Amino acid sequence: MAQNKKALFIIFGGTGDLAYRKLYPALYKLYKKNYLNENFAVIGTARREWSDPYYQEVVYDSIQEIKKSDEDAKEFASHFRYQSHNVNDTENYISLLKLADELDEEYDLEGNRVFYLSVSPSFFGTVSSHLRAENLITENGFNRLIIEKPFGSDFVNSDVLNNDILESFSEEQIYRIDHYLGKEMIQMLLALRFGNPLFKKIWNKDFVSNIQVTLAEDMGVEERGAYYEQSGALRDMVQNHVLQIVSFLYMDEPKSNDSNAIRKVKVEALRDLKIINKDNINHNFVRGQYSSSKDNLDILDYVSEHEVDPDSTVETFVAGKIESTHENWKGVPLYIRTGKRMKAKKTQIDIVFKNDATTFFPAQEVKENVLSIHIGPDEGLSLQLNNKKIGHAFEIEPIHLTYQPSADAPEDYERLILSALTGDKTNFVHWDELAESWKYIDSIREAWTNADSPLYLYEANTNGPKEANELLENDNNYWIWN
Ligand code: NAD
Repeated sequence: MAQNKKALFIIFGGTGDLAYRKLYPALYKLYKKNYLNENFAVIGTARREWSDPYYQEVVYDSIQEIKKSDEDAKEFASHFRYQSHNVNDTENYISLLKLADELDEEYDLEGNRVFYLSVSPSFFGTVSSHLRAENLITENGFNRLIIEKPFGSDFVNSDVLNNDILESFSEEQIYRIDHYLGKEMIQMLLALRFGNPLFKKIWNKDFVSNIQVTLAEDMGVEERGAYYEQSGALRDMVQNHVLQIVSFLYMDEPKSNDSNAIRKVKVEALRDLKIINKDNINHNFVRGQYSSSKDNLDILDYVSEHEVDPDSTVETFVAGKIESTHENWKGVPLYIRTGKRMKAKKTQIDIVFKNDATTFFPAQEVKENVLSIHIGPDEGLSLQLNNKKIGHAFEIEPIHLTYQPSADAPEDYERLILSALTGDKTNFVHWDELAESWKYIDSIREAWTNADSPLYLYEANTNGPKEANELLENDNNYWIWN
Protein backbone atom coordinates (compact mmCIF):
# COMPACT_ATOMS: atom_id res chain seq x y z
CA MET A 1 0.00 0.00 0.00
CA ALA A 2 1.21 3.50 -0.84
CA GLN A 3 2.66 5.52 1.98
CA ASN A 4 0.22 8.01 3.44
CA LYS A 5 1.61 11.58 3.29
CA LYS A 6 0.68 14.18 5.84
CA ALA A 7 0.24 17.75 4.62
CA LEU A 8 -1.85 20.87 4.53
CA PHE A 9 -2.24 22.37 1.06
CA ILE A 10 -2.94 26.07 0.85
CA ILE A 11 -4.02 26.84 -2.69
CA PHE A 12 -3.97 30.50 -3.73
CA GLY A 13 -6.31 30.82 -6.71
CA GLY A 14 -8.66 28.14 -5.34
CA THR A 15 -11.57 29.37 -7.49
CA GLY A 16 -9.48 29.38 -10.68
CA ASP A 17 -9.50 27.26 -13.80
CA LEU A 18 -6.27 25.41 -13.05
CA ALA A 19 -7.40 24.42 -9.56
CA TYR A 20 -10.73 23.09 -10.85
CA ARG A 21 -9.50 21.27 -13.94
CA LYS A 22 -6.16 19.94 -12.70
CA LEU A 23 -5.37 20.33 -9.01
CA TYR A 24 -8.52 18.91 -7.39
CA PRO A 25 -8.67 15.87 -9.72
CA ALA A 26 -4.93 15.27 -9.13
CA LEU A 27 -5.39 15.41 -5.34
CA TYR A 28 -8.34 13.03 -5.62
CA LYS A 29 -6.24 10.52 -7.56
CA LEU A 30 -3.54 10.66 -4.90
CA TYR A 31 -6.26 10.14 -2.31
CA LYS A 32 -7.60 7.10 -4.15
CA LYS A 33 -4.10 5.66 -4.33
CA ASN A 34 -3.66 6.20 -0.60
CA TYR A 35 -0.85 8.73 -0.90
CA LEU A 36 -3.29 11.07 0.80
CA ASN A 37 -5.54 9.56 3.35
CA GLU A 38 -7.01 10.84 6.59
CA ASN A 39 -4.03 13.15 7.25
CA PHE A 40 -4.50 15.87 4.66
CA ALA A 41 -6.45 19.08 4.40
CA VAL A 42 -6.77 21.80 1.79
CA ILE A 43 -7.47 25.48 2.22
CA GLY A 44 -8.61 27.16 -0.98
CA THR A 45 -8.22 30.91 -1.03
CA ALA A 46 -9.28 33.51 -3.60
CA ARG A 47 -11.06 36.81 -3.76
CA ARG A 48 -14.60 35.48 -4.05
CA GLU A 49 -16.82 35.13 -0.98
CA TRP A 50 -17.47 31.41 -0.87
CA SER A 51 -18.60 29.30 2.10
CA ASP A 52 -17.01 25.95 3.03
CA PRO A 53 -20.09 23.95 1.87
CA TYR A 54 -20.12 25.77 -1.47
CA TYR A 55 -16.39 25.19 -1.96
CA GLN A 56 -16.76 21.52 -1.10
CA GLU A 57 -19.56 21.32 -3.67
CA VAL A 58 -17.20 22.80 -6.30
CA VAL A 59 -14.47 20.32 -5.40
CA TYR A 60 -16.99 17.45 -5.50
CA ASP A 61 -18.14 18.68 -8.90
CA SER A 62 -14.57 18.83 -10.26
CA ILE A 63 -14.09 15.07 -9.75
CA GLN A 64 -17.45 13.90 -11.11
CA GLU A 65 -15.92 12.08 -14.05
CA ILE A 66 -13.28 10.24 -12.08
CA LYS A 67 -14.95 9.59 -8.74
CA LYS A 68 -15.18 5.98 -7.63
CA SER A 69 -18.33 6.52 -5.58
CA ASP A 70 -20.43 9.37 -4.31
CA GLU A 71 -19.54 8.54 -0.78
CA ASP A 72 -15.80 8.74 -1.19
CA ALA A 73 -16.01 11.90 -3.36
CA LYS A 74 -17.89 13.53 -0.47
CA GLU A 75 -15.41 12.27 2.11
CA PHE A 76 -12.56 13.65 -0.03
CA ALA A 77 -14.30 17.05 -0.39
CA SER A 78 -14.85 17.22 3.38
CA HIS A 79 -11.08 17.82 3.78
CA PHE A 80 -11.45 21.20 2.00
CA ARG A 81 -11.98 24.63 3.60
CA TYR A 82 -12.34 28.00 1.96
CA GLN A 83 -11.11 31.41 2.91
CA SER A 84 -11.90 34.59 1.04
CA HIS A 85 -8.60 36.32 0.68
CA ASN A 86 -6.97 39.28 -0.97
CA VAL A 87 -3.28 38.57 -1.49
CA ASN A 88 -2.31 42.10 -0.40
CA ASP A 89 -4.24 42.13 2.87
CA THR A 90 -2.23 41.28 6.00
CA GLU A 91 -5.38 40.58 8.06
CA ASN A 92 -6.27 37.77 5.66
CA TYR A 93 -2.97 36.00 6.35
CA ILE A 94 -3.58 36.24 10.09
CA SER A 95 -6.93 34.45 9.76
CA LEU A 96 -5.33 32.01 7.32
CA LEU A 97 -2.71 31.15 9.97
CA LYS A 98 -5.44 30.49 12.53
CA LEU A 99 -7.31 28.18 10.17
CA ALA A 100 -4.07 26.44 9.11
CA ASP A 101 -3.12 25.73 12.73
CA GLU A 102 -6.60 24.40 13.48
CA LEU A 103 -6.50 22.03 10.53
CA ASP A 104 -2.98 20.99 11.42
CA GLU A 105 -4.26 19.82 14.75
CA GLU A 106 -7.55 18.35 13.52
CA TYR A 107 -5.85 16.22 10.83
CA ASP A 108 -2.53 15.64 12.61
CA LEU A 109 -0.46 17.18 9.80
CA GLU A 110 2.78 17.61 11.76
CA GLY A 111 3.36 21.12 10.45
CA ASN A 112 3.85 20.00 6.82
CA ARG A 113 2.69 22.70 4.41
CA VAL A 114 2.48 22.95 0.63
CA PHE A 115 1.71 26.46 -0.59
CA TYR A 116 0.41 26.29 -4.15
CA LEU A 117 0.45 29.64 -5.97
CA SER A 118 -2.08 29.17 -8.75
CA VAL A 119 -2.36 32.91 -9.29
CA SER A 120 -0.74 35.51 -11.49
CA PRO A 121 3.08 35.54 -11.10
CA SER A 122 2.83 39.23 -10.21
CA PHE A 123 1.54 38.01 -6.79
CA PHE A 124 4.33 35.48 -6.12
CA GLY A 125 6.56 37.95 -4.26
CA THR A 126 3.73 39.45 -2.17
CA VAL A 127 2.25 36.10 -1.18
CA SER A 128 5.57 34.56 -0.23
CA SER A 129 6.66 37.53 1.86
CA HIS A 130 3.31 37.53 3.72
CA LEU A 131 3.60 33.80 4.34
CA ARG A 132 6.93 34.42 6.01
CA ALA A 133 5.94 37.62 7.86
CA GLU A 134 2.65 36.28 9.19
CA ASN A 135 4.31 33.04 10.38
CA LEU A 136 2.53 30.59 8.11
CA ILE A 137 5.84 28.84 7.57
CA THR A 138 6.12 26.22 10.29
CA GLU A 139 9.13 25.24 12.36
CA ASN A 140 8.28 21.58 12.87
CA GLY A 141 7.32 20.32 9.39
CA PHE A 142 8.31 20.84 5.76
CA ASN A 143 7.28 23.99 3.89
CA ARG A 144 7.20 23.86 0.08
CA LEU A 145 6.16 26.54 -2.36
CA ILE A 146 4.79 25.40 -5.73
CA ILE A 147 4.61 28.03 -8.43
CA GLU A 148 3.17 28.01 -11.93
CA LYS A 149 4.47 29.37 -15.19
CA PRO A 150 5.01 31.94 -16.64
CA PHE A 151 7.99 32.71 -14.44
CA GLY A 152 8.87 36.18 -15.67
CA SER A 153 9.06 37.51 -19.20
CA ASP A 154 12.83 37.78 -19.64
CA PHE A 155 15.98 37.08 -17.66
CA VAL A 156 16.09 40.39 -15.80
CA ASN A 157 12.46 40.29 -14.82
CA SER A 158 12.53 36.64 -13.72
CA ASP A 159 15.68 37.33 -11.70
CA VAL A 160 13.86 40.10 -9.81
CA LEU A 161 10.86 37.82 -9.26
CA ASN A 162 13.13 35.04 -8.05
CA ASN A 163 14.98 37.28 -5.61
CA ASP A 164 11.64 38.45 -4.20
CA ILE A 165 10.66 34.87 -3.47
CA LEU A 166 14.10 33.96 -2.13
CA GLU A 167 13.63 36.49 0.66
CA SER A 168 11.03 34.14 2.14
CA PHE A 169 11.76 30.65 0.74
CA SER A 170 15.05 28.93 -0.08
CA GLU A 171 15.70 27.44 -3.52
CA GLU A 172 15.33 24.01 -1.88
CA GLN A 173 11.76 24.90 -0.87
CA ILE A 174 10.70 26.25 -4.29
CA TYR A 175 9.03 23.89 -6.76
CA ARG A 176 8.61 25.53 -10.18
CA ILE A 177 6.14 23.66 -12.32
CA ASP A 178 6.67 22.85 -15.96
CA HIS A 179 3.92 20.32 -16.41
CA TYR A 180 5.77 18.70 -19.32
CA LEU A 181 8.18 17.33 -16.73
CA GLY A 182 5.29 15.34 -15.27
CA LYS A 183 4.58 13.58 -18.56
CA GLU A 184 5.14 9.86 -18.71
CA MET A 185 6.99 9.94 -22.02
CA ILE A 186 9.38 12.71 -20.97
CA GLN A 187 10.34 10.56 -18.01
CA MET A 188 10.63 7.56 -20.28
CA LEU A 189 13.19 9.47 -22.34
CA LEU A 190 15.68 9.16 -19.48
CA ALA A 191 15.05 5.45 -19.14
CA LEU A 192 15.45 4.97 -22.88
CA ARG A 193 18.62 7.02 -23.14
CA PHE A 194 20.49 5.65 -20.16
CA GLY A 195 18.92 2.23 -19.61
CA ASN A 196 19.72 0.82 -23.03
CA PRO A 197 23.28 0.31 -24.26
CA LEU A 198 21.68 0.14 -27.71
CA PHE A 199 20.80 3.85 -27.57
CA LYS A 200 23.41 5.01 -25.07
CA LYS A 201 26.26 4.17 -27.43
CA ILE A 202 24.79 5.87 -30.45
CA TRP A 203 23.31 9.01 -28.83
CA ASN A 204 25.93 11.33 -30.33
CA LYS A 205 27.16 13.03 -33.49
CA ASP A 206 28.70 9.86 -34.91
CA PHE A 207 25.31 8.21 -35.28
CA VAL A 208 22.61 10.85 -35.03
CA SER A 209 21.85 12.83 -38.18
CA ASN A 210 19.38 15.28 -36.65
CA ILE A 211 16.78 15.59 -33.90
CA GLN A 212 13.30 17.06 -34.28
CA VAL A 213 11.00 18.34 -31.55
CA THR A 214 7.43 19.32 -32.41
CA LEU A 215 4.87 20.80 -30.02
CA ALA A 216 1.92 21.52 -32.28
CA GLU A 217 -1.48 22.80 -31.20
CA ASP A 218 -4.50 22.82 -33.46
CA MET A 219 -6.37 25.47 -31.46
CA GLY A 220 -5.97 29.24 -31.75
CA VAL A 221 -5.54 31.57 -28.78
CA GLU A 222 -9.21 31.12 -27.74
CA GLU A 223 -9.97 33.37 -24.73
CA ARG A 224 -6.32 33.99 -23.89
CA GLY A 225 -5.61 36.74 -26.44
CA ALA A 226 -4.58 39.33 -23.83
CA TYR A 227 -2.11 36.92 -22.20
CA TYR A 228 -0.77 35.74 -25.53
CA GLU A 229 -0.15 39.27 -26.76
CA GLN A 230 2.34 39.63 -23.91
CA SER A 231 3.98 36.25 -24.40
CA GLY A 232 3.91 34.89 -27.97
CA ALA A 233 4.99 31.35 -28.83
CA LEU A 234 8.65 31.91 -27.93
CA ARG A 235 7.95 32.73 -24.28
CA ASP A 236 4.83 30.59 -23.96
CA MET A 237 6.30 27.33 -25.26
CA VAL A 238 9.99 27.52 -26.22
CA GLN A 239 11.39 29.06 -23.02
CA ASN A 240 9.95 26.30 -20.88
CA HIS A 241 8.63 23.10 -22.46
CA VAL A 242 10.80 23.06 -25.60
CA LEU A 243 14.07 23.93 -23.85
CA GLN A 244 13.36 21.43 -21.09
CA ILE A 245 13.02 18.72 -23.74
CA VAL A 246 16.18 19.97 -25.48
CA SER A 247 18.15 19.71 -22.23
CA PHE A 248 16.99 16.11 -21.71
CA LEU A 249 18.00 15.23 -25.27
CA TYR A 250 21.45 16.82 -25.20
CA MET A 251 22.53 16.24 -21.60
CA ASP A 252 25.36 13.91 -20.60
CA GLU A 253 24.59 10.91 -18.45
CA PRO A 254 24.10 12.15 -14.86
CA LYS A 255 26.42 10.75 -12.19
CA SER A 256 23.38 9.41 -10.31
CA ASN A 257 19.62 9.66 -10.44
CA ASP A 258 19.66 12.26 -7.70
CA SER A 259 17.88 15.50 -8.66
CA ASN A 260 21.04 17.61 -8.19
CA ALA A 261 23.05 15.37 -10.50
CA ILE A 262 20.35 15.49 -13.18
CA ARG A 263 19.96 19.25 -12.87
CA LYS A 264 23.73 19.74 -13.23
CA VAL A 265 23.88 18.04 -16.63
CA LYS A 266 20.69 19.75 -17.81
CA VAL A 267 22.12 23.18 -16.97
CA GLU A 268 25.36 22.30 -18.75
CA ALA A 269 23.40 21.24 -21.83
CA LEU A 270 21.61 24.61 -21.89
CA ARG A 271 24.89 26.48 -21.41
CA ASP A 272 26.34 24.66 -24.41
CA LEU A 273 23.69 25.95 -26.82
CA LYS A 274 25.17 27.93 -29.68
CA ILE A 275 24.39 31.59 -29.15
CA ILE A 276 21.94 33.24 -31.48
CA ASN A 277 22.67 36.77 -32.70
CA LYS A 278 21.58 39.15 -35.42
CA ASP A 279 24.01 37.60 -37.92
CA ASN A 280 22.75 34.03 -37.63
CA ILE A 281 19.13 34.46 -36.52
CA ASN A 282 17.57 34.47 -39.98
CA HIS A 283 19.36 31.24 -40.93
CA ASN A 284 18.32 29.53 -37.73
CA PHE A 285 14.92 30.79 -36.60
CA VAL A 286 11.59 31.44 -38.29
CA ARG A 287 8.64 33.19 -36.72
CA GLY A 288 5.12 33.08 -38.02
CA GLN A 289 1.57 34.16 -37.29
CA TYR A 290 -1.58 32.31 -38.32
CA SER A 291 -4.07 33.72 -40.77
CA SER A 292 -7.51 32.34 -41.58
CA SER A 293 -8.16 29.07 -43.36
CA LYS A 294 -9.40 28.67 -46.94
CA ASP A 295 -11.22 25.49 -45.93
CA ASN A 296 -12.82 26.68 -42.72
CA LEU A 297 -14.30 30.16 -42.82
CA ASP A 298 -15.04 30.10 -39.07
CA ILE A 299 -11.34 30.35 -38.26
CA LEU A 300 -10.15 33.89 -37.65
CA ASP A 301 -6.78 35.45 -38.38
CA TYR A 302 -4.75 35.83 -35.19
CA VAL A 303 -5.11 39.62 -35.44
CA SER A 304 -8.93 39.33 -35.45
CA GLU A 305 -9.04 37.25 -32.25
CA HIS A 306 -10.59 38.57 -29.02
CA GLU A 307 -8.29 41.00 -27.15
CA VAL A 308 -5.61 40.90 -29.86
CA ASP A 309 -4.22 44.11 -31.35
CA PRO A 310 -5.29 44.29 -35.04
CA ASP A 311 -1.71 45.34 -35.89
CA SER A 312 -0.12 42.72 -33.68
CA THR A 313 3.25 41.30 -34.73
CA VAL A 314 3.25 38.66 -31.98
CA GLU A 315 4.42 35.25 -33.21
CA THR A 316 2.07 32.27 -32.89
CA PHE A 317 4.64 29.92 -34.43
CA VAL A 318 8.37 29.42 -33.98
CA ALA A 319 10.68 27.00 -35.75
CA GLY A 320 14.37 26.91 -35.12
CA LYS A 321 17.60 25.09 -35.69
CA ILE A 322 19.33 24.72 -32.35
CA GLU A 323 22.94 23.62 -32.18
CA SER A 324 25.16 22.52 -29.35
CA THR A 325 28.83 23.36 -28.94
CA HIS A 326 29.34 20.15 -26.92
CA GLU A 327 31.93 17.77 -28.41
CA ASN A 328 29.31 14.97 -28.64
CA TRP A 329 26.88 17.04 -30.65
CA LYS A 330 28.87 19.31 -32.97
CA GLY A 331 27.22 19.48 -36.37
CA VAL A 332 23.96 17.77 -35.32
CA PRO A 333 21.01 20.12 -35.84
CA LEU A 334 18.16 19.93 -33.37
CA TYR A 335 15.11 21.37 -35.08
CA ILE A 336 12.26 22.65 -32.96
CA ARG A 337 8.79 23.70 -33.98
CA THR A 338 5.80 24.90 -32.02
CA GLY A 339 2.71 26.83 -32.95
CA LYS A 340 -0.99 27.39 -32.72
CA ARG A 341 -3.49 26.48 -35.43
CA MET A 342 -1.27 23.78 -36.83
CA LYS A 343 -2.63 20.69 -38.61
CA ALA A 344 -3.16 18.64 -35.48
CA LYS A 345 -2.42 18.55 -31.79
CA LYS A 346 0.83 16.65 -31.49
CA THR A 347 3.90 16.55 -29.30
CA GLN A 348 6.61 14.37 -30.71
CA ILE A 349 10.37 13.90 -30.64
CA ASP A 350 12.11 12.23 -33.59
CA ILE A 351 15.69 11.07 -33.41
CA VAL A 352 16.88 10.54 -36.97
CA PHE A 353 19.94 8.33 -37.24
CA LYS A 354 22.55 8.56 -39.97
CA ASN A 355 22.06 6.42 -42.99
CA ASP A 356 24.78 3.83 -43.28
CA ALA A 357 24.75 3.18 -47.00
CA THR A 358 27.01 0.45 -48.37
CA THR A 359 27.27 -1.17 -51.75
CA PHE A 360 25.30 -4.07 -50.32
CA PHE A 361 22.52 -1.67 -49.22
CA PRO A 362 22.60 1.41 -51.48
CA ALA A 363 21.30 4.61 -49.88
CA GLN A 364 18.21 4.91 -52.07
CA GLU A 365 16.89 1.58 -50.84
CA VAL A 366 17.49 2.20 -47.17
CA LYS A 367 15.39 4.53 -45.01
CA GLU A 368 16.85 6.25 -41.97
CA ASN A 369 16.38 4.56 -38.61
CA VAL A 370 14.09 6.89 -36.68
CA LEU A 371 13.19 6.66 -33.02
CA SER A 372 9.94 8.57 -32.45
CA ILE A 373 8.77 9.42 -28.95
CA HIS A 374 5.08 10.29 -28.95
CA ILE A 375 4.43 12.49 -25.94
CA GLY A 376 0.83 13.42 -26.60
CA PRO A 377 -2.05 13.21 -27.15
CA ASP A 378 -1.20 9.57 -27.99
CA GLU A 379 1.70 8.25 -25.97
CA GLY A 380 4.18 5.71 -27.20
CA LEU A 381 7.35 4.89 -29.05
CA SER A 382 8.11 3.77 -32.54
CA LEU A 383 11.31 2.69 -34.15
CA GLN A 384 11.67 2.68 -37.90
CA LEU A 385 13.91 -0.11 -39.15
CA ASN A 386 14.77 -1.57 -42.53
CA ASN A 387 13.63 -5.10 -43.10
CA LYS A 388 13.45 -7.58 -45.92
CA LYS A 389 10.13 -7.68 -47.68
CA ILE A 390 8.53 -11.11 -47.44
CA GLY A 391 8.92 -12.91 -50.77
CA HIS A 392 11.44 -14.41 -53.17
CA ALA A 393 13.20 -11.17 -54.10
CA PHE A 394 15.67 -9.49 -51.73
CA GLU A 395 13.85 -6.19 -51.38
CA ILE A 396 14.03 -3.80 -48.43
CA GLU A 397 11.07 -2.08 -46.78
CA PRO A 398 10.75 0.10 -43.68
CA ILE A 399 8.93 -1.41 -40.70
CA HIS A 400 7.90 0.16 -37.39
CA LEU A 401 8.29 -1.43 -34.00
CA THR A 402 5.79 0.28 -31.76
CA TYR A 403 4.99 0.44 -28.07
CA GLN A 404 2.04 2.03 -26.29
CA PRO A 405 2.05 2.32 -22.51
CA SER A 406 -1.01 1.31 -20.53
CA ALA A 407 -3.78 3.90 -20.41
CA ASP A 408 -3.68 4.45 -16.67
CA ALA A 409 -0.33 6.22 -16.43
CA PRO A 410 -0.41 8.96 -13.75
CA GLU A 411 -1.30 12.37 -15.08
CA ASP A 412 1.14 15.31 -15.04
CA TYR A 413 -0.26 17.15 -12.02
CA GLU A 414 -0.82 13.99 -10.03
CA ARG A 415 2.80 13.01 -10.49
CA LEU A 416 4.14 16.50 -9.79
CA ILE A 417 2.11 17.05 -6.63
CA LEU A 418 3.25 13.68 -5.31
CA SER A 419 6.88 14.59 -6.10
CA ALA A 420 6.45 17.85 -4.18
CA LEU A 421 4.97 15.91 -1.26
CA THR A 422 7.91 13.53 -1.17
CA GLY A 423 10.44 16.35 -1.64
CA ASP A 424 11.71 15.01 -4.97
CA LYS A 425 12.78 17.99 -7.06
CA THR A 426 13.86 16.08 -10.18
CA ASN A 427 10.79 17.08 -12.15
CA PHE A 428 10.76 20.74 -11.20
CA VAL A 429 12.68 23.58 -12.79
CA HIS A 430 15.65 24.84 -10.82
CA TRP A 431 16.56 28.52 -11.00
CA ASP A 432 19.83 27.68 -12.79
CA GLU A 433 17.89 26.04 -15.64
CA LEU A 434 15.44 28.89 -15.78
CA ALA A 435 18.22 31.49 -15.89
CA GLU A 436 19.98 29.72 -18.79
CA SER A 437 16.78 29.26 -20.75
CA TRP A 438 15.79 32.93 -20.37
CA LYS A 439 19.22 34.06 -21.53
CA TYR A 440 18.86 31.94 -24.67
CA ILE A 441 15.33 33.22 -25.32
CA ASP A 442 16.40 36.83 -24.76
CA SER A 443 19.16 36.39 -27.34
CA ILE A 444 16.58 35.25 -29.91
CA ARG A 445 14.23 38.13 -29.21
CA GLU A 446 17.04 40.65 -29.34
CA ALA A 447 18.33 39.19 -32.60
CA TRP A 448 14.85 39.27 -34.15
CA THR A 449 14.67 42.98 -33.36
CA ASN A 450 18.21 43.81 -34.44
CA ALA A 451 18.02 41.83 -37.67
CA ASP A 452 14.53 43.13 -38.38
CA SER A 453 13.47 39.52 -38.98
CA PRO A 454 10.32 38.90 -41.00
CA LEU A 455 7.10 37.57 -39.48
CA TYR A 456 5.71 35.04 -41.97
CA LEU A 457 1.97 34.51 -42.17
CA TYR A 458 0.79 30.91 -42.42
CA GLU A 459 -2.61 29.54 -43.20
CA ALA A 460 -4.45 27.99 -40.23
CA ASN A 461 -4.51 24.16 -40.22
CA THR A 462 -1.07 23.92 -41.79
CA ASN A 463 2.28 23.19 -40.23
CA GLY A 464 3.50 26.78 -40.38
CA PRO A 465 5.18 28.88 -43.06
CA LYS A 466 7.22 27.17 -45.81
CA GLU A 467 10.33 28.89 -44.44
CA ALA A 468 10.14 26.46 -41.49
CA ASN A 469 10.57 23.57 -43.95
CA GLU A 470 13.45 25.33 -45.66
CA LEU A 471 15.40 25.34 -42.39
CA LEU A 472 15.64 21.56 -42.81
CA GLU A 473 15.78 21.39 -46.60
CA ASN A 474 18.89 23.60 -46.56
CA ASP A 475 20.58 20.77 -44.64
CA ASN A 476 19.06 18.04 -46.86
CA ASN A 477 16.69 17.05 -44.05
CA TYR A 478 12.89 17.00 -43.79
CA TRP A 479 10.28 16.96 -41.02
CA ILE A 480 9.43 13.40 -40.05
CA TRP A 481 5.95 14.48 -38.89
CA ASN A 482 4.24 16.60 -41.49
P1 NAD B 1 -7.74 32.01 -13.24
O1 NAD B 1 -7.82 33.41 -13.76
O2 NAD B 1 -8.80 31.05 -13.61
O3 NAD B 1 -7.66 32.06 -11.66
C1 NAD B 1 -6.93 33.04 -10.97
C2 NAD B 1 -7.20 32.92 -9.47
O4 NAD B 1 -6.49 33.98 -8.82
C3 NAD B 1 -8.66 33.07 -9.09
O5 NAD B 1 -8.94 32.11 -8.10
C4 NAD B 1 -8.72 34.48 -8.51
O6 NAD B 1 -9.73 34.66 -7.53
C5 NAD B 1 -7.36 34.59 -7.87
N1 NAD B 1 -6.97 35.99 -7.67
C6 NAD B 1 -6.81 36.96 -8.60
N2 NAD B 1 -6.49 38.13 -8.00
C7 NAD B 1 -6.42 37.89 -6.67
C8 NAD B 1 -6.14 38.70 -5.53
N3 NAD B 1 -5.84 39.99 -5.62
N4 NAD B 1 -6.17 38.10 -4.31
C9 NAD B 1 -6.48 36.79 -4.18
N5 NAD B 1 -6.75 35.98 -5.23
C10 NAD B 1 -6.73 36.53 -6.45
O7 NAD B 1 -6.29 31.49 -13.64
P2 NAD B 1 -5.80 29.98 -13.83
O8 NAD B 1 -6.04 29.58 -15.24
O9 NAD B 1 -6.37 29.13 -12.76
O10 NAD B 1 -4.23 30.11 -13.68
C11 NAD B 1 -3.57 30.31 -12.44
C12 NAD B 1 -2.07 30.38 -12.67
O11 NAD B 1 -1.62 29.18 -13.27
C13 NAD B 1 -1.64 31.50 -13.63
O12 NAD B 1 -0.38 31.97 -13.22
C14 NAD B 1 -1.49 30.78 -14.96
O13 NAD B 1 -0.57 31.43 -15.81
C15 NAD B 1 -0.98 29.44 -14.50
N6 NAD B 1 -1.27 28.35 -15.43
C16 NAD B 1 -2.56 28.01 -15.71
C17 NAD B 1 -2.82 26.94 -16.57
C18 NAD B 1 -4.25 26.51 -16.88
O14 NAD B 1 -4.39 25.48 -17.56
N7 NAD B 1 -5.26 27.19 -16.44
C19 NAD B 1 -1.75 26.24 -17.15
C20 NAD B 1 -0.44 26.60 -16.83
C21 NAD B 1 -0.22 27.66 -15.97
